[in-house]
Amino acid sequence: MMEQLATPVTGNPKIFDDYHPPAAELLNACVHCGFCLQTCPTYTLWGKEQDSPRGRIQLINMAIEGEVGLTELYVSHFDHCLGCLACVSACPSGVKYGKLIEAMRGQVERHYLRPLHQRVLRRMVAAVFSRPARMRKLMAPLRAYQRLGLQRLARALGLTALLPRSLRAMEQLLPDLSHRETSAVLPSRIAPQGEKRRSVVLLTGCVQSVFMGQVNAATARVLAAEGCEVLVPPEQGCCGALMMDLGQEQEALDSARRLIDQFAPLAVDTIVLNAAGCGAALKDYGYLLRDDPQYRDRAIAFSAKCKDVSEVLAELKPRAPRHPIALRVAFHDPCHLQHAQGLREQPRAMLRTIPGLELLELSEGALCCGSAGLYGLVQQETAHQLGQRKAERIIATPAQAVATGNPGCQLQLRAMLNEAGHPLPVMHYMELLDASISGTHLPGGPA
Ligand code: SF4
Ligand code: SF4
Repeated sequence: MMEQLATPVTGNPKIFDDYHPPAAELLNACVHCGFCLQTCPTYTLWGKEQDSPRGRIQLINMAIEGEVGLTELYVSHFDHCLGCLACVSACPSGVKYGKLIEAMRGQVERHYLRPLHQRVLRRMVAAVFSRPARMRKLMAPLRAYQRLGLQRLARALGLTALLPRSLRAMEQLLPDLSHRETSAVLPSRIAPQGEKRRSVVLLTGCVQSVFMGQVNAATARVLAAEGCEVLVPPEQGCCGALMMDLGQEQEALDSARRLIDQFAPLAVDTIVLNAAGCGAALKDYGYLLRDDPQYRDRAIAFSAKCKDVSEVLAELKPRAPRHPIALRVAFHDPCHLQHAQGLREQPRAMLRTIPGLELLELSEGALCCGSAGLYGLVQQETAHQLGQRKAERIIATPAQAVATGNPGCQLQLRAMLNEAGHPLPVMHYMELLDASISGTHLPGGPA
């Protein structure tokens, strides 16, 4: 049963505009069976129908029928949704819930006036995290904050607890910026080793290129070692995924068009992705640009070339020799890899090529860690609860390290494990493979 959602509206007013409203055929595909409920992180936490996929679909139907309006309470049920798409993996009727939440986020953004503090936070988050150049400007002060020991001191004295909740979340997620490749800019072309097998272009991402450049460097080295010519266009900008999370569709469309224009002249077989959230967004450009006659076909062709790096390596078969790494590694599936892209086996198969490495599975592996793009910064409490839950599942294993494939997951898991007093190294799976191929010790991992 739905609880009272706030003042019901009367007179059957039109709640949604005609620009991409939640589509009737998507809504009607739901047969209300409830198979998705137990896979939904917010239903798992709170057990409330209106914070489940089925409940949210029902809420959309109620708004279309004019039974409810876009009140604060109503909108909160959609804001709570992580967009993790675990419900899509679980749904036997093939309900495309991702398209529904995407449409809802746009409608909410256009028709609901958020409280001032939320508007300011969301604008700030979008303005900073989708612009690598702006993030780079923050690097010097953030590095000084860590190098001078101010971060340690602030945490030890409990000063970070005095920050507003959103800033506290950002501070907690801040990665270790001491790695020499953290924000290094890759050369625009990296030659293949041995006979060339493929030409690829690497998407460097926003957060990843600035705060975790070592992942891009490791990805490029591995691809080159496996015979790929790797192109890395400079100044790539945002792919639009973060803007879509915030319901800012026009900004996302502009970002997608810019990226298509930038990559189009490159004669490559594959567009390689190593951040699951960006990967899911790029593979969906055909849908995103469906109304744009100039870009629609180009977007479809662009998306067809996009592959996660684990897919590329599965196709190529290993050629570069691997050095052993004796390590027990828990694997965390990013939602945008397992649910949005349907990739579970490929990254595992890739890690199994490393001699000595023991892969461990987590209980509740299909459940989101709470990172979910920018979710951790705008829905801090829920993200924190889910992060703690994931950390507990990791700690329950004998893992010596954690591997994953998305910068948000990496930051979230590291922060939550640190908070739990169990500071395991959390790496992108490409860092592990790079260490094995190059025979070097793991960055941030056991020597
Ligand atoms: S599993 Fe699919 S059809 Fe069943 S309630 Fe959930 S979304 Fe609807
Ligand atoms: S996307 Fe994730 S959080 Fe949202 S309804 Fe589906 S399972 Fe729940």
